[in-house]
Amino acid sequence: MKLLKQGRVYAPNDLGCKDVLIGGGKIIAIEDEISIDGYPFVEEVNVSGKLVVPGFVDSLVHITGGGGEGGFTTRTPEMHIDDAVQGGVTTLIGVLGTDAVTRSLENLLAKAKELKSLGLSVYCYTGSYHLPAVTITESITKDVMLIDEFIGVGEVAISDHRATPMDYLALANVASQARTGGMLADKAGVVSIHVGDDRQGLDLLRQVLSNTAVPITQFYPTHINRTKELLADGIHYAKQGGFIDFTTSTTEQILEQGEIEAAQALAKALEAGVDISQLTMSSDGNASLPVFDEQGRLTDLQVGKVKSLHQSFVDAVVKYNVDIDVALRSITSSPADILSLRSKGRLQVDGDADITILDGETYDVQSVIASGKFLLKEQVKKTQAYF
Ligand code: ZN
Repeated sequence: MKLLKQGRVYAPNDLGCKDVLIGGGKIIAIEDEISIDGYPFVEEVNVSGKLVVPGFVDSLVHITGGGGEGGFTTRTPEMHIDDAVQGGVTTLIGVLGTDAVTRSLENLLAKAKELKSLGLSVYCYTGSYHLPAVTITESITKDVMLIDEFIGVGEVAISDHRATPMDYLALANVASQARTGGMLADKAGVVSIHVGDDRQGLDLLRQVLSNTAVPITQFYPTHINRTKELLADGIHYAKQGGFIDFTTSTTEQILEQGEIEAAQALAKALEAGVDISQLTMSSDGNASLPVFDEQGRLTDLQVGKVKSLHQSFVDAVVKYNVDIDVALRSITSSPADILSLRSKGRLQVDGDADITILDGETYDVQSVIASGKFLLKEQVKKTQAYF
């Protein structure tokens, strides 16, 4: 058991200074003051002056590496657990990407199990960029229903030169399979949508929504900060009730080509009146970040970083004046709710003890607790007060 003393608790709503008692991997109590006199087996940790926040939920990470659009020497590497932990992430969603030939779902699941046994909470999407979707059981519905880690399908690519050309019925078919599997297994069954920079934007999703009974909440489109036009389209889509996700990994060159920083996109969507429950940021960690010229030739390729999620949270607060609790929601409760991860993304009694501790002034990640255990413990010393 651990008692976190007198940190400023954002649950993610601001609860003020509280004591947080955890044990058995769960949060046992959050109170103004909790006394552990007579319980020497409780580890007391003084976190006064620090922010105690939910462990971050990163809804899109290429944990086995993503693409490699410049040939085999540009294949992006697997994610190392330190990349997540040092960035305050305790829950992540692993996905395939452009390359579903040399990156397999079997490998994705194995990597997820590795990270889980090291202490993180990891879920995955079946499928990849392309249709028909790759699966383990030859059925999206069966994969989502029967394989614990799978909570949806994706990221299915649309409006992208790498996407499978498809009509709305093909996408509706994928959505209904994921939805059915999700309902039968009490999971979200979402369809993660990779949106490229073709000018069709979110049109295909709108066609599905206006011609079928698939609800708008079944889709979780990402990279919506890719261009100014897509951001405007995404804000419009969100105002109709949809979720939109902004990608935090970027490069100077990508920003020069017109991408909007995720933190800025978040601030703009909030200003436009979109509710924070519909807005999320994800890292796209270990993705390839290719830059193509006007002829479609690759000119640069960098690797996405999970740590960019934390940096974008800090940027949202410091550069774009988003309130701390609101910025936090975009990387905690909002993605957890969209993905139906009910014990994630919040500090609540009986919820999982996934906690990130930030410096009170710089918001640097100092310590990370996942399922009640320290995965990172920096500059937080065990207090001796009760001896
Ligand atoms: Zn993508």
